[in-house]
Amino acid sequence: MKNTKTVETVLAPPPTHMVGNGFRVHNFFPSGYRLGQKRMSPFFLMDYNSKIEFSPSEKPRGVGVHPHRGFETVTIAYHGKVAHHDSRGNSGIIGEGDVQWMTAASGILHKEYHEKEFSREGGLFQMVQLWVNLPAKDKMSEPKYQNLLHNNMGNYEIPGNGGNVFVIAGEHNGVKGPAKTFTPLNMYDVRLNKAAKLNLSLPENYNTGILVVEGKVKINENEIAPADHFILFRNEGTEINIEAMENAILLVLNGEPIDEPIAQYGPFLMNKQEEIVQAMEDFNKGKFGRLED
Ligand code: MN
Repeated sequence: MKNTKTVETVLAPPPTHMVGNGFRVHNFFPSGYRLGQKRMSPFFLMDYNSKIEFSPSEKPRGVGVHPHRGFETVTIAYHGKVAHHDSRGNSGIIGEGDVQWMTAASGILHKEYHEKEFSREGGLFQMVQLWVNLPAKDKMSEPKYQNLLHNNMGNYEIPGNGGNVFVIAGEHNGVKGPAKTFTPLNMYDVRLNKAAKLNLSLPENYNTGILVVEGKVKINENEIAPADHFILFRNEGTEINIEAMENAILLVLNGEPIDEPIAQYGPFLMNKQEEIVQAMEDFNKGKFGRLED
């Protein structure tokens, strides 16, 4: 194939850790494989909650009130339901195929819990959380919240009953996604039927990765990636050829790198150390607003 975007590596899921008591995640980057803080920029972090069965609980599991500044948290639900509340008064519930896109920017408090009814019944749970970095000029902009429901995603139907490319952000074959982003990026929720073939054409210089959420795929006719693996691509070439060896679900990430220094401490993602100190000071002074536990 001409101008192939080649696979750099296929990464197995690193050991899990708990985020609060509601999310059991594999961190693929930045820490899981020490890929480097900018290797997938603008995507700074990816926590993948692979399939887990939660027992029924009257008290919803999750993460209590905590701050963020300098980036966006993007949560994609595959199984189960998550509820969100923040200090800006925004709230929402996402279920299968829905995406919660929260711009923390200048600072926000939020909490993330399993939705009440899901908690009470228990069941299968599978999610991804991404931290999408913001360029320096937008880090202190107004926080906002986008609740992106599955029905509003761009829908490209793959010819021959191959499945769908649901476009969350950016564009595929002229079909656009609903998410408003600060820097150019593409994010797709791809559903492939067994034996389906899909070609993606993505900018050469953008960082690119694919998480195999379900099933098994063959990439560029030679690399095989099973469920729960992350495929990292080289920043060369534009064309990716995908063949579903089983029914498959893929999360495609592709974005223009933000070429700026990074200073990170816990939930704050800034450019300089003094901005981290400032974030902690502002948080301690209550400048991120209020939110009940
Ligand atoms: Mn959070």
